Amino acid sequence: MSEPCDILLTADLLLAQDDARNVVEDAAVAVVGRRIAAVGPAERLDEAFSPARRLDLGRALLMPGLVNAHTHASMTMFRGLADDLPLMQWLQEAVFPVERRLTREAVRTGALIACAEMIRTGTTCFLDGYILTDEVLAAADEAGLRAVVGEGLFAFPTPAAASAEEAMERVRARQAALAGRRRLRQCVLPHSIYATTPEILRKAFDLARELGVPLALHLAESAGETAQVLAAHGARPVEFLRREGLLGPRPEGMDGGKADGPDLLLAHCVDLTPEEIALLAASGARVAHCPESNAKLASGFAHVAALRAAGVCVALGTDGAASNNDLNMFGEMNSAALQAKGRARDSQALSAQDVLDMATRGSAEAVGWPELGRLEAGGPADLVALDLSRPNLMPLHDPVAQVVYAATGHEVRLTMCAGRVLYEDGRFTTLDMDDLSRRARELAAWVRGNGAGAR
Ligand SMILES: [Zn+2]
Repeated sequence: MSEPCDILLTADLLLAQDDARNVVEDAAVAVVGRRIAAVGPAERLDEAFSPARRLDLGRALLMPGLVNAHTHASMTMFRGLADDLPLMQWLQEAVFPVERRLTREAVRTGALIACAEMIRTGTTCFLDGYILTDEVLAAADEAGLRAVVGEGLFAFPTPAAASAEEAMERVRARQAALAGRRRLRQCVLPHSIYATTPEILRKAFDLARELGVPLALHLAESAGETAQVLAAHGARPVEFLRREGLLGPRPEGMDGGKADGPDLLLAHCVDLTPEEIALLAASGARVAHCPESNAKLASGFAHVAALRAAGVCVALGTDGAASNNDLNMFGEMNSAALQAKGRARDSQALSAQDVLDMATRGSAEAVGWPELGRLEAGGPADLVALDLSRPNLMPLHDPVAQVVYAATGHEVRLTMCAGRVLYEDGRFTTLDMDDLSRRARELAAWVRGNGAGAR
């Protein structure tokens, strides 16, 4: 007697990314509602389930949807606008003049473009930081993706809020509104040490603890930031966090450290000393590594191998499209692996499996959603399928190496989030791409008319 299921997917190969890192040949996944009912050999699942819909993908590889642990989705509006500038000049001359005039429509359209790109390249969950983020949540909702959205907190007024305190009140109010939402969550996101104040950071820490959500910020992105924080506060960024009581260490054996503070997710962490790496490891802080943004803005190469060796949970993120210039986690995996090897002058510094773990399980843990990033019975049905008949994926010796070193992301032929197919063989099911393309052109004209692009 077979059980009903909504969708049964079959494919030549499956990377479960479960605790055993199982690789299944002639595999199947049974989906019931938003969850995976079973993962295993197609022969067994074929007998066990009678599906309402079958998706026989053939020469394809099924794997968990990727989790982008650090991005600014709406910044697709700046993609290709002002490249090849130093970080602070880029922010002050190209980005901030437009961001001072941001509108809800611009934030929404930018985020929708990002969602389309993420769906197309196999990302099913992203952690986002921006302002007017109700629009980012609405875009993720419309697109069918999962999102952990942080309203940016700054020491200066923004089009979203006159003060960080006002923005924090909105975050507090929004938490109740998100209570019933399965795909949408939030974090507390003070932009950085240099764009806030110690008081804002302490209030943000308390708010994240009160709401039980992660606290995310940019930290130690470049030597320039370190110099700025040293001049303003007399301490390097990590030491500053420790001094202000914003960093652990947590009590022995305490998982997640809920008792003494929120989970901390630090983006970048490029400019760290060995002592600071040890402090981060002892504190339980997670790091969102953004290799392409760090390279493009010439911030440097984060010492990912050392962070991981010290026991830090390292996640992977693309950062915004203005500093990358894409939101493609396949490219990011490739860059992460190559940069780590180059920086350590050791080809074994970061393996393909290590990088895939960062982009799936590591990012999932870092954004506070640890059931994501793996394909397991009972878990969320967030998965992607790569077309293995593409020439760049032939022949196939090692599927993990193929995913990290050979795939570009554009081999994705199916993206599913929470049991819903969002993309299948060239067709988006939730987004009208003709309409989005028209809105993107209008957005570009608006951005250029509002101060950006003058170089
Ligand atoms: Zn960022």
